[in-house]
Amino acid sequence: MTRRRREVPTPELRCPTCAAEVEPFWAHCSNCGRRLEWRDTTKKTGAECYYCGWVVSDSFSFCPWCGRDIADRDSSPEPLKAPKGFRYDRRCRWGCGGGVMYPMRHCPWCGRGQKWRYDDYENICPHCSKGVNDWMDVCPWCGQDATGRDLIRQALRRVRQRLVVSRLKTWNYRVLLRPGVSGVTHRSPKVIEIERRYVTRKRSRDEISWNMLTGLILHELGHSFLYHNWSLTRTGRFRRAFGEVRKAYRVSDSKWVDFERRGVTTTLANYVTAYAATHPQEDFAETFRFYVTRRGRLRELFAEFGRKRKGVPVFEKFLVLGDYIRSLRGWR
Ligand SMILES: [Zn+2]
Ligand SMILES: [Zn+2]
Ligand SMILES: [Zn+2]
Ligand SMILES: [Zn+2]
Repeated sequence: MTRRRREVPTPELRCPTCAAEVEPFWAHCSNCGRRLEWRDTTKKTGAECYYCGWVVSDSFSFCPWCGRDIADRDSSPEPLKAPKGFRYDRRCRWGCGGGVMYPMRHCPWCGRGQKWRYDDYENICPHCSKGVNDWMDVCPWCGQDATGRDLIRQALRRVRQRLVVSRLKTWNYRVLLRPGVSGVTHRSPKVIEIERRYVTRKRSRDEISWNMLTGLILHELGHSFLYHNWSLTRTGRFRRAFGEVRKAYRVSDSKWVDFERRGVTTTLANYVTAYAATHPQEDFAETFRFYVTRRGRLRELFAEFGRKRKGVPVFEKFLVLGDYIRSLRGWR
């Protein structure tokens, strides 16, 4: 005869407001931002913090979540490894000897702050530097904008306006701040990464102007637009104008590119800017940036090209882009 065991259901970890999946001990839902509470609903420990209401152990001296002193006569006189209901992940980083569980913010034995590695996450929050994923709108740890878009609102607004007046429909691109890099990859063509060093709340040496940031975002949007409309690169007209975009290349971020520059360079006859000459994909991204910055007004732009003695290939690049954008609107 088989012995039956009662199945212990795994608790559904979903946001009570929007039903998005959440992870244990997140302070906020990463989708709607609702504040989460982790109570002792399953009576695992029989104790909740008096202050924040989250699950604790009777043997703790400090709440590992809000950090307050909750010591009483049941508190363990010695730091423990992992009391009932908690897992041992590692020792307290301050050497009190007690064990701590991810993602406790404080040691439950000595109360001091704990830091964790967030290796399973794709990015780090520009507000609290804890782990976030690219699809998250709200940081599950601090409750602020996980993408950092709130820090570059002015530039994003300007970018959106420029796209509208250039009569470009949005393709659901997603701008986010990331440490160490600006760019777009073929793997995730709708994600526009902006080096977060350029955007700090306190003014620093690396911070760049709103104009520069707008230019940088528009340039990166050019890459995203091309990935999103990759079939364009296979047409004969595109290849004659821009060349082979599949050509391998390496971009060194150390090369400072002046994306704030709105004027056309006079040095290279067949490229809109010097940077455009580095690779066909950069050529397209710079052409895109100029097209959108100048609101798609080709007549004005062509007059300037004429004055600056630009070659026929530059005119053709803008016509290729302009015609393609028109074809997207169904005006073929
Ligand atoms: Zn939610
Ligand atoms: Zn607490
Ligand atoms: Zn400790
Ligand atoms: Zn955060």
